[in-house]
Amino acid sequence: RAKAEGRGCFRFFEQGTDARVRAMAQLESELRQAVSDEAVVPHFQPLIDLGTGHLVGVEMLARWPHPTRGMVSPAEFIPLAEDGGLIGPMTVSLLRQGCRAAGSWPAHVTLASNLSPMQLRDANLPATIANVLAETGFPAARLELEVTESALVGDLVLARRLLEEIRALGVRLALDDFGTGYSSLRHLQLLPFDRLKIDQSFVGAMVADKESAKIVSAVVGLGHSLGLSTVAEGVETEEVAALLRGLGCDVGQGWLFGRPVPAHRIDALVAVPGEKETNRTRVA
Ligand code: C2E
Ligand code: MG
Ligand code: MG
Ligand code: MG
Repeated sequence: RAKAEGRGCFRFFEQGTDARVRAMAQLESELRQAVSDEAVVPHFQPLIDLGTGHLVGVEMLARWPHPTRGMVSPAEFIPLAEDGGLIGPMTVSLLRQGCRAAGSWPAHVTLASNLSPMQLRDANLPATIANVLAETGFPAARLELEVTESALVGDLVLARRLLEEIRALGVRLALDDFGTGYSSLRHLQLLPFDRLKIDQSFVGAMVADKESAKIVSAVVGLGHSLGLSTVAEGVETEEVAALLRGLGCDVGQGWLFGRPVPAHRIDALVAVPGEKETNRTRVA
């Protein structure tokens, strides 16, 4: 519990410690129920090819519409799920829902999903993922899993083995939030990543801050020279998108192209034939 508090979640509890502990236990039991009811749902954010402007994939982002608290953000409930031993079942539930939804989208639309660092300590993870793919019939090649470098701190040998097993299923791997936290070039060298996601803190600052633009440029070059595709997160303006295009960054993700939306909004986006490009690639 102290760990979760330290990570800044549950700011909505301002009572004394006892009341707070009880309230968190209550919320945890609500979360457990929500996971088993498939009431924690994936939203999907467009990934756009910066060269063509086409939708090439979506990233699944967990959402918990709570009956009284409104939409609870993953920054709040993911740490609670990790603490309460719920992250495994939650991930399976989200992956199932995501694969079912994405199975009806065109074959070139990939589905990216986030893994929690804890999950790279779970020796059953590759089998769990294989099961979801078998159950849903979703092609492994269309699934991409995102991990942050905090997942690689600790038992790097185990993490590497699990990532290699997952990669061997045909699932692709992305290193998320690159440039923050524990960035180590060793990780890029040792681990079987397919793409590099450049953290939004650099991307968002590109226009105002030359240093950030230089860092993004260097990371795009580094990624490409290692054979990785590059994704810029947090693309909010056309100006940033233009700079990224100039650098040869492959894919953009951000409010400019669309916020995370429920599956039916993506259904609508990919289904309409002959619609104008701007309508196809902008969701929100
Ligand atoms: P992430 O994987 O780096 O996801 C990107 C975050 O940036 C998302 O926040 C997204 O809504 C937000 N974002 C996208 N475009 C923009 C933009 O243009 N501007 C700004 N300011 N933000 C943008 P979200 O949905 O709140 O998720 C936060 C984090 O929670 C994710 O970061 C991921 O680490 C974690 N998360 C979300 N869903 C899951 C999940 O199913 N499992 C696990 N383990 N973690 C998850
Ligand atoms: Mg991510
Ligand atoms: Mg990220
Ligand atoms: Mg992030």
